[in-house]
Amino acid sequence: MLGFWKKTCMFCGAVATKGFRIPDRMNSFICKACYETWEAAGRKCAACDTSVRGVQEVGAFFEQRTLGHADCGGLKLLP
Ligand SMILES: [Zn+2]
Ligand SMILES: [Zn+2]
Repeated sequence: MLGFWKKTCMFCGAVATKGFRIPDRMNSFICKACYETWEAAGRKCAACDTSVRGVQEVGAFFEQRTLGHADCGGLKLLP
């Protein structure tokens, strides 16, 4: 059993303590490393292929295992 504070990342399968929760989906978790990889790659949205900019909300796309705009159908992340 995993401890309460250790979660498995839905994208890469790594067990991490730091990352984001997705309140709309039960027991979902995205690790910080996946988020940073996505950021370093230019914050590209999985749905519309443009960048997610400052004020736009980040969402998780589980089918593509990446992130994008919450407005494009991604599920919102919570720190
Ligand atoms: Zn990850
Ligand atoms: Zn988009």
